Amino acid sequence: MQRTGDPDDRGQLVPDHITLEEFDAEGQAFLEANAEPRQDSGFRWGQGSDQVALIPESTPEEDRRQLAAAQGWSKKVFDAGLGWITGPPQYGGRGLTRDYERRWRTAEARYDTPSTTMFGIGLGMVAPTILAHGTDEVKERYLGALHRGEVLACQLFSEPGAGSDLAGLQTRAERDGDEWVVNGQKVWTSFAHLADIGEVICRTDPDLPKHKGLTGFIVDMHAPGIEVRPLRQMTGGASFNEVFFTDVQVPDTHRLGDVNGGWAVALTTLMNERAAIGGGGGVPGATRLVELARHLGKAHDPLVRQQLARVIVQGRVASMNNLRAMAKVAAGQAPGPELSIAKMSLTQTVTQTCDLVSTLLGSALVANTGEWGTYAWSELILGLPGLRLAGGTDEVLRNIVGERVLGLPKEPMAR
Ligand SMILES: Cc1cc2nc3c(=O)[nH]c(=O)nc-3n(C[C@H](O)[C@H](O)[C@H](O)COP(=O)(O)OP(=O)(O)OC[C@H]3O[C@@H](n4cnc5c(N)ncnc54)[C@H](O)[C@@H]3O)c2cc1C
Repeated sequence: MQRTGDPDDRGQLVPDHITLEEFDAEGQAFLEANAEPRQDSGFRWGQGSDQVALIPESTPEEDRRQLAAAQGWSKKVFDAGLGWITGPPQYGGRGLTRDYERRWRTAEARYDTPSTTMFGIGLGMVAPTILAHGTDEVKERYLGALHRGEVLACQLFSEPGAGSDLAGLQTRAERDGDEWVVNGQKVWTSFAHLADIGEVICRTDPDLPKHKGLTGFIVDMHAPGIEVRPLRQMTGGASFNEVFFTDVQVPDTHRLGDVNGGWAVALTTLMNERAAIGGGGGVPGATRLVELARHLGKAHDPLVRQQLARVIVQGRVASMNNLRAMAKVAAGQAPGPELSIAKMSLTQTVTQTCDLVSTLLGSALVANTGEWGTYAWSELILGLPGLRLAGGTDEVLRNIVGERVLGLPKEPMAR
């Protein structure tokens, strides 16, 4: 049987020929040898962690520990051929379909493995953009390394004067022979303090209309001239940063797509961002809410029951919409407004969850009595404004759905 890594008649690497059942057995054998099965993952009041934070609140030491654990696990998984199941074999992927990927994810979730959330931006957004727009050099250098956990990537898009209006960004890249010289400032860059590379969008022609004078690059975050300054969040942690560029040299081989074609590059990343965020990881489950209501003796309160039902129904509708978007991807189509709807639904579900928790807990949300499962909810509530902004704000997504799905007249735009 020809395996991944075998060259075919034309010297091209070919994907595995492996049935789903053989693949399942391979994944299972790997998990049994390298991880412990999760103990009963069902929620029990008062047991385990009561954390429900949306945005990581770790100290720098915890960051480093989590990163080392995530790297160790990703390396093992990648070396076993399970780290980039759908990726092209010539860049270290397995060349299999999303069905295989789903089977592996389901099997992996039954085991107690280190969290790889820190790699989310790199794998969910930067890697697909490199695959779509990168040069062969960049693809060969970074795609395998990103999936093996050797390289952590960040997204350098937002600036103090450019968020929703991303095309208004001002960070400049000027051509200098085979290199570009980057000057400017980015902000809200998640995980920049840990990142090895970043996807940056720069203005390369200030005389062109704003969407047309942009170019994307992969920058080495350890290059001279890059300064990363952490920003403290109201939730306590510091997972965002300001990033300053002073005469940073970037080789032209690290350009993504065409010169002044950066808007298409940014859109590739943003579509993947919406898919990653809208996927909904981290929303507290219904059982946790029901148990909270029971614990507080409010499970029979008609107002509470109504709010609870609303959260559960909203969550189910959101997951069905996600299935619709995934079915489109599996059928080889580009998902469009489903991803904007997915992100909006996630925000709505979390907003309703926060409303319900506020009704249930009242002052216990602001005064820590030390009781398990009560004050911990304040982190979710403080993280909600961030969720409403990240990956497209509520208002901007409503505009997209209004204009592109419902065909409403376009919002007047400031030039
Ligand atoms: C948790 C989190 C993680 C993030 N991580 C990153 C990251 O890793 N990399 C990165 O580059 N950026 C990141 N960001 C920044 C994020 O992309 C921006 O916050 C977002 O694009 C909004 O931009 P802004 O904050 O400048 O708000 P603005 O665009 O200034 O918006 C301010 C307000 O005006 C409203 N508004 C703006 N335009 C319109 C319009 N046309 N119609 C109606 N209302 C409008 C918005 O909805 C919002 O309420 C992150 C943000 C958060 C909260």
